[in-house]
Amino acid sequence: MKKTLNDLDFNNKKVLVRCDFNVPLKDGIITDDNRIVQVLPTIKYLIEHNAKIVLCSHLGKVKTEEDKKNLSLKVVATKLSELLNQKVIFIDVTKGSKLEMAINNLEAGQVLLFENTRFELGETKNDAELAKYWASLVDLYVNDAFGTAHRAHASTEGVAHYVNDSCVGLLIEKELDIIGNALENPKRPLVAIIGGAKVSEKIGVIDNLLNIADKIIIGGGMAYTFLKAMGYEIGASLLEEDKIELAKSYLAKANDKLVLPIDSICAKEFSNDSFKEAYDNDNMPSDMMGLDIGPKTIDKYQSILKDAKTVIWNGPMGVFEMSNFATGTNAICECLANLDAITIIGGGDSAAAAKQLGYSDKFTHISTGGGASLEFMEGKKLPGIEAIANK
Ligand code: AMP
Repeated sequence: MKKTLNDLDFNNKKVLVRCDFNVPLKDGIITDDNRIVQVLPTIKYLIEHNAKIVLCSHLGKVKTEEDKKNLSLKVVATKLSELLNQKVIFIDVTKGSKLEMAINNLEAGQVLLFENTRFELGETKNDAELAKYWASLVDLYVNDAFGTAHRAHASTEGVAHYVNDSCVGLLIEKELDIIGNALENPKRPLVAIIGGAKVSEKIGVIDNLLNIADKIIIGGGMAYTFLKAMGYEIGASLLEEDKIELAKSYLAKANDKLVLPIDSICAKEFSNDSFKEAYDNDNMPSDMMGLDIGPKTIDKYQSILKDAKTVIWNGPMGVFEMSNFATGTNAICECLANLDAITIIGGGDSAAAAKQLGYSDKFTHISTGGGASLEFMEGKKLPGIEAIANK
């Protein structure tokens, strides 16, 4: 068990908190502040416990000097200050005497945010010198950046090795509790819904869930490699030729645990304006591609889901970015929103779909980490969490 906030004494201590402030920006304005909102409980806890709070995060992908102009965390400091109703000191560097002095001058309860950790080349390389340097500025380290916990970077993993003590924040604690419980000790039946483009990206999840879930519902582009493996002609649908044998082995192992679409909305072209029609699996025309699950599949999936007591969902049922192929994803989302069950969305596209439909508050939990929650569901250890001190 990893240490949590309750295990550490923060009184008058300098505390480095790794947050996930990787917010979407448009023309320099934050378009969704959810990631900032999610880490507020941890920051407020630390304020109440008289810590001297030093926040850090990455923002976007920094490849050139030019990128740095558009990826400053200053906008986050302004937004955070509004949300906390308290001044947030912003330091526009990641190293050096300006930062060191500002941290040393902090009073208990004050909050400081320093510049984008990815402005340092050593961040994504998990450079030990950089990690040691950031650790040297503080007494304690709190990781609350679930969205980047699957990456071993200097500020997410390295730094934890060089501080006096460390723990996870309230957001990571919540993610581990809810997703961890659903995997280890679920209320059954546990139904997993796995969709998205490719089988190859979901192999680990399917592998792990085959041992845990009572049913695994498959949708999205990856369904067609399975249907091909079952002997159906899939026209011009997405196919991973080199995964057909793997799909066959899953089907053989799973008995009736794996549930595949029985019909699809097919189109002539990969376009929202294309002619479209629903076809059963054994009738798919050779010149059309499946871009969404069909009406019979929606009915079938809804009838499986209505008895579920725990549902984990990762990946859309079709090309939901195009309105004509979003029906399956929307129907599954609506069905889950109305279930009397523990419902967990594993971040990414499925979370976006739930938000778009206005169902965000109808789920037990929407994970803040797409990649991180996927790796967690694969049964992998997340390096940013592994590095934290044990109880
Ligand atoms: P992933 O990132 O693996 O969860 O995949 C999400 C992507 O899969 C979305 O951009 C969808 O448009 C895409 N997708 C879902 N269903 C299909 C399909 N039937 N054919 C092609 N792409 C699909």
